[in-house]
Amino acid sequence: MKALFFMAAMSIHTLSIAADHGAHVHGAAEIDVVVDGKKVLITLESPADNLLGFERAPKSDYEKNKVKDVAAQLQFAANLFAPNAECKSSKPVVTMPTFSKGEHSDISAEYAFECSNMPTQIKLPLWKNFAGFKGLTVNLVTDKGQKQLKLKPGQVLDLK
Ligand SMILES: [Zn+2]
Repeated sequence: MKALFFMAAMSIHTLSIAADHGAHVHGAAEIDVVVDGKKVLITLESPADNLLGFERAPKSDYEKNKVKDVAAQLQFAANLFAPNAECKSSKPVVTMPTFSKGEHSDISAEYAFECSNMPTQIKLPLWKNFAGFKGLTVNLVTDKGQKQLKLKPGQVLDLK
């Protein structure tokens, strides 16, 4: 089971590269989703602007607090992703920008869920909590294979 999950993760990595991973367009973001039975692994890669509203070192107190708030919000998977099964998420891995390399910055976050049964859908509270997201490219790997989907605000991710 563990080996299968690893292989799926490897193949989604290849898929991401083929789909020009890392294109930086404000409003757009990319998620890699691997569903292996009751396990779900989601990796988000987003321009920092979608979450913060800016992409340079914070200046005002408002902006400094915004960086802290967003970093804190990203620690809770349920603010972004909600598989429709009873799922527990392990501690996410959130990488906030250091704002050191020029004009553009990205935020990335990884979420791993263990569910009590197989989810058939992942709801996306991120649309509501982060209005900066205007579209999501989803690289999905399930036991049925892999595909790429484009989602608009308000849409959910169907795993069937
Ligand atoms: Zn940017």
